[in-house]
Amino acid sequence: MTEPYRGGCACGAIRYETTSEPIVELHCQCRECQKRSGTGHSSYLTFALRSEMTITGEAKEWQVAGESGNMKVHAFCPNCGTPVYLTFVAMPELIAVHAASLDEPGRFKPQFVTYGVRGLAWDTIDAALPRFERMPG
Ligand SMILES: [Zn+2]
Ligand SMILES: [Zn+2]
Repeated sequence: MTEPYRGGCACGAIRYETTSEPIVELHCQCRECQKRSGTGHSSYLTFALRSEMTITGEAKEWQVAGESGNMKVHAFCPNCGTPVYLTFVAMPELIAVHAASLDEPGRFKPQFVTYGVRGLAWDTIDAALPRFERMPG
């Protein structure tokens, strides 16, 4: 069994922890991820079961349709504004956390890049990673 994945927002009001392993780890260069991160992409670890993620603190949530058309529920800390995790209306059992919110962000192991079609010339990501123009599949 691996060390739990733990993390939270910048001020510490929102914390999460899970003993599950992520099913997908990726960078996303879609416009939504650019807007919310303030830079060229966002980076996520996606876990299969929201029910196996313990979250403490009261995150504020808002919804937006991603470029894929899927509604995403973004959760951020109302105190410090850090985006911490997101869930998906159509797949309510999944939960994704932002890579740099981990207590040990070095554990993030990106597997591929989504929405490479929106990638900006100045946002260089490891060229060895597979790139999908939009979503895979
Ligand atoms: Zn906070
Ligand atoms: Zn995105």
